Amino acid sequence: AAKAQGKNTYAFYTEEQTDVTVRYFALEQDLRSALLQDNELTLHYQPQFKLNIYGDAYLSGFEALVRWHHPQQGWLSPGEFIPLAEETRLIIPLGWKVIELACQQIRLWLDAGYHPPLVAVNISALQLLQSDFNTKLDSLVHHYGLQAEHLELEITESLLMQDPEYTENKLHQLRHAGYRLALDDFGTGYSSLHRLKRLPLDRLKIDRSFVQDIGQCKEDEAIIQTVLQLGTSLGMQVLAEGIETQEQLMFLARRGCHEVQGFLLGRPQAASECNFLLAAEHLDGLKTPQLTHHVS
Ligand code: C2E
Ligand code: MG
Ligand code: MG
Ligand code: MG
Repeated sequence: AAKAQGKNTYAFYTEEQTDVTVRYFALEQDLRSALLQDNELTLHYQPQFKLNIYGDAYLSGFEALVRWHHPQQGWLSPGEFIPLAEETRLIIPLGWKVIELACQQIRLWLDAGYHPPLVAVNISALQLLQSDFNTKLDSLVHHYGLQAEHLELEITESLLMQDPEYTENKLHQLRHAGYRLALDDFGTGYSSLHRLKRLPLDRLKIDRSFVQDIGQCKEDEAIIQTVLQLGTSLGMQVLAEGIETQEQLMFLARRGCHEVQGFLLGRPQAASECNFLLAAEHLDGLKTPQLTHHVS
């Protein structure tokens, strides 16, 4: 009986495993094909805002976030395919697709007469570490008649763990060429202060996990204050991610947080839905100050 049970258990386990492997392999094939189509992968744009101490917010940029419309499974979020893309190195062609889509969109906005603010794209370590990354990026930006200043590259702390000298060098070249650089999900990785001070970063993005317990967790509040001081002293803009409540917004505003991003102020949305924000900015450009969002 024991043997039979063991056998059953084994068979069951194998079936599960096979199932997972098959599904994973299928999704990999689907992603390969999605990269060759021009209608499955799209970008959503989440607005980013400058903040003053009263809690007034002014549009300052958009973060481009990839979305996949799978032919059978419908919309998939990045959490469902970015890890797979990283493991299979498909993140490299995917990353280029994302940069190209972002450049196309900035071009469309410019042609429509808008002054698009900065567009931030997430860059995987695998992609950035490609030896031809900088030249390929330049040629794409040039192809769409854009300037490096239009783009911000969001990198994560894990990138800094790999080949520190090479990475640092590369980031300096990119910064020198005019690209803006942001450190994403700050506080969740292992970057040392020693490394941090040597990187040419424009922005430090405080991870959402620290923001979500504002009002309930004194430790998280203390960490946020410290990161704000640190970033400010190092000459960086500090952006807090994942603002969902008015309380979180006012906490950050009163402590001088430079910028915010989150569902309270704007969800990731199709480019067409961003137009009203851009139009408001455009009109406001004729007067000052440029108030686009009064949230206090
Ligand atoms: P991230 O770069 O930290 O992006 C922010 C994520 O937080 C987005 O999820 C966004 O929708 C979500 N978010 C923003 N505000 C709020 C909020 O107020 N509340 C909550 N609960 N969530 C909020 P998304 O779009 O699912 O992306 C998840 C992650 O996937 C991103 O985290 C990024 O690491 C990765 N990712 C997304 N697009 C790309 C891409 O094009 N390339 C690469 N390499 N990674 C990407
Ligand atoms: Mg990001
Ligand atoms: Mg982030
Ligand atoms: Mg994040």
